[in-house]
Amino acid sequence: MHNQLVNELRLDLTISVVQPLLIRGQNEFGSDPTRPEIQCVRTGGVVYLPGTSLRGMLRQHVERINRTLEGAVWSCNPLGDRSERNTGDGTRYSCNAFFKSKGTPVPPATEIYRESCTTCRLFGNRYLASRISIADAYPNAEVITENRHTVAIDRVLGEAIPASKSAFEVIMAGSFETVLTLKNFTLGQFGLLAIVLRDLQTGQLRLGAGRSRGLGQIKADVTHFSLRYPACRLHGDQLELLNGRRIGCADQLYGAGALSPLAKDYFLSPDDRTPLPEHLHYTEDIWRGVELILQNDIDQTALWRCGVERWRMEVANEK
Ligand SMILES: [Zn+2]
Repeated sequence: MHNQLVNELRLDLTISVVQPLLIRGQNEFGSDPTRPEIQCVRTGGVVYLPGTSLRGMLRQHVERINRTLEGAVWSCNPLGDRSERNTGDGTRYSCNAFFKSKGTPVPPATEIYRESCTTCRLFGNRYLASRISIADAYPNAEVITENRHTVAIDRVLGEAIPASKSAFEVIMAGSFETVLTLKNFTLGQFGLLAIVLRDLQTGQLRLGAGRSRGLGQIKADVTHFSLRYPACRLHGDQLELLNGRRIGCADQLYGAGALSPLAKDYFLSPDDRTPLPEHLHYTEDIWRGVELILQNDIDQTALWRCGVERWRMEVANEK
């Protein structure tokens, strides 16, 4: 299905640093004694937030939510070492190990998708591409950094160990811009992302090193929200593919199951649709297809809620 583009969500995000943040990078300043040993990641001298770190943070949060539902079907541990699914809570089971145990040739994409856990279906694994991508986040204002010092404590004497003293750099204040895209998603996946993004918007996620000592709290604002069906057009009150295949009424939100001709192969529900909030309407553009652009938080929340309802339904049906 990655060869198609049936639906696409694009979010422009502004990420603000709430608590001091450290994402370790290479030492770009050599043996400069005025610089701490551990420094923030930079490119060309500019501090930035790598997209892989941001995606990893979201994946970790999804894993936590999915594992709470119990069972390896919801979330594996990509670093796990077991290929048997029915072993405990899934923390040692790994989709990667499972597919590796099948040997060669590698199973077809449809089978890999069907057999992957819910987290991997969204974030991918070694055998399956991710549906979510996040670009590196670059500053849109001055980034203020500070050097901090840390020292180990002797557990017996209760004193600082002088030789263990080290310095590290943190971002104290900064605002960064990035773009998150979600492609070929089911409405359940849209809802799961909604839950995670809401937690990110309310500052409940932490990024980078030293999270247990209070570092890394960040917060995100959505500055642009668009959802589109690039190969669709509006025909009266109907949504249809450009080839004329009818999808359904244009007052519904559609997931990949309702849009893709490959849905059956991937075991996606053809009823992957839910009514749009009443005041929201699609527009059509010759370049971009059928699109929904949401300008404010109230509209965005209303749409996210549609996805969350679908996600909850999927969880209930899986029992
Ligand atoms: Zn997995």
